[in-house]
Amino acid sequence: MTSPVSSAVSSPSHVAPSHVVVIGAGIVGTATAYELALRGVSVTLVERREGAGLETSRANGGQLSACEVAPWAGPEVPGLILKWFGRADAPFRLRPKPDPEQWLWLMRFLRRCRASARAERVLPNLELALLTRARLDAYRENFAAEGRTLDMDHAQNGILRVFRERHGLEEAREGIGRMTQAGVEQRELSPAECVELEPALASSFQKDEIAGGIYCPSDGMGDAHLFSRELAAAAERLGVRFRASEEVEAIEVHDGKTTGVRLADELVAADAVVVAAGPMTARLLRPFGLRLPIYPVKGYSVTLPLEESEAAVPNVSITDESRKVVVSRLGNRLRAAGQAEIGGYDLTLEMPRARSVFQALTGLMPQMGALEPRAEYWCGLRPMSPDGSPIIGELASRNRTIRGLYVNSGHGTLGWTMGAGSAASLAELICGSAPQLDLTPFSHKRFSL
Ligand SMILES: Cc1cc2nc3c(=O)[nH]c(=O)nc-3n(C[C@H](O)[C@H](O)[C@H](O)COP(=O)(O)OP(=O)(O)OC[C@H]3O[C@@H](n4cnc5c(N)ncnc54)[C@H](O)[C@@H]3O)c2cc1C
Repeated sequence: MTSPVSSAVSSPSHVAPSHVVVIGAGIVGTATAYELALRGVSVTLVERREGAGLETSRANGGQLSACEVAPWAGPEVPGLILKWFGRADAPFRLRPKPDPEQWLWLMRFLRRCRASARAERVLPNLELALLTRARLDAYRENFAAEGRTLDMDHAQNGILRVFRERHGLEEAREGIGRMTQAGVEQRELSPAECVELEPALASSFQKDEIAGGIYCPSDGMGDAHLFSRELAAAAERLGVRFRASEEVEAIEVHDGKTTGVRLADELVAADAVVVAAGPMTARLLRPFGLRLPIYPVKGYSVTLPLEESEAAVPNVSITDESRKVVVSRLGNRLRAAGQAEIGGYDLTLEMPRARSVFQALTGLMPQMGALEPRAEYWCGLRPMSPDGSPIIGELASRNRTIRGLYVNSGHGTLGWTMGAGSAASLAELICGSAPQLDLTPFSHKRFSL
């Protein structure tokens, strides 16, 4: 393997764990197991579903979007929630529940709806996104060294954000300088340049529905489900024990030290446990008095299988900022995703909401309307933190570290964009190497729990 891990040195006082259990085989858990295995750690990966990448990582928007790492919480959001309240097709919907977990999370989220709070999170998220890019390159090299291809329908054709209203474009323009300073090239495009770059937008252009765009050529897209499957298999080839169809019922902690996990009829011993259970993370950690603010935010996607002769299919990934939908081409499929519903853990697929994603797609690209009979709808729960950054690191309860209990979750809208970087950083921390990234901004201690 050409570039397996960073060459950071281990701290002399740190003893790397002899066996680690990773809970959850989504993007984040499979990458964490793989990164640990690359560092020679013995790992068991436990997943309650029958395979990897079958929950939130199943059919997301596909965007690997370093250029769009700003959190959702922002000054415009409370107004939008009120404006759309009660509308079945609202891109952002609050479904109040008699559930203190929801209200507490919502209060924290609303407190983050300030421009300064949003800006504060951009650079830490960007660093994780850029590390993810580097790790995905390294994974591809590792697969090539094994004589394999990391098959995840990846394409680096850039992401184009299109704006229908000028004021949206003007606000977004302010971010270009910040991104350029951080080394991520972005450029503003006129409406004509947008359609020149992506001819599939011709109809919107002709209807004068594009005020302009911002293009980030180094961003890309790929299929997170394929990635999770590929990484789980690669981790197994490195010796990871992948236990699918097994649910962790509890994490075992004795005398402030993690000792393993309890499955239905077995105790799996480990001296470290990583909770990467997506939206279920907070619930698994509650027995330790931890109230991690990770709450599910439901989203929908529609996937359209493409035939070779299909006309005017986009090759560039698009974010339609007005319709709140993202569009990615994943090999011979087109995926559109959107919707945010704060309404608990219910995974019922509601057709009016699912179809509103399809309608947003055909609003932007009417030529896709003909593909409706092939549409495959899906919904999933984003594991969201209130401030839009994941929680990564070792956990402490009442200011006492629970030795060997780690979390890697809460990536919300950006799990694909930031997952591999989070995994590499946490693996470095667990193994006692000097992390490439400062993980302080991702500590759970930023929330008073
Ligand atoms: C509609 C939509 C569009 C999105 N678009 C994008 C995008 O374009 N770009 C982007 O970067 N991100 C996007 N995201 C976000 C991204 O998909 C998520 O952040 C990411 O999938 C979260 O991955 P995860 O591994 O944390 O969680 P999951 O994929 O949910 O994995 C957690 C796993 O843990 C397992 N598990 C839970 N509890 C237990 C237990 N007790 N025992 C054993 N296993 C357990 C679950 O079965 C699951 O497989 C989107 C999300 C949605 C919903």
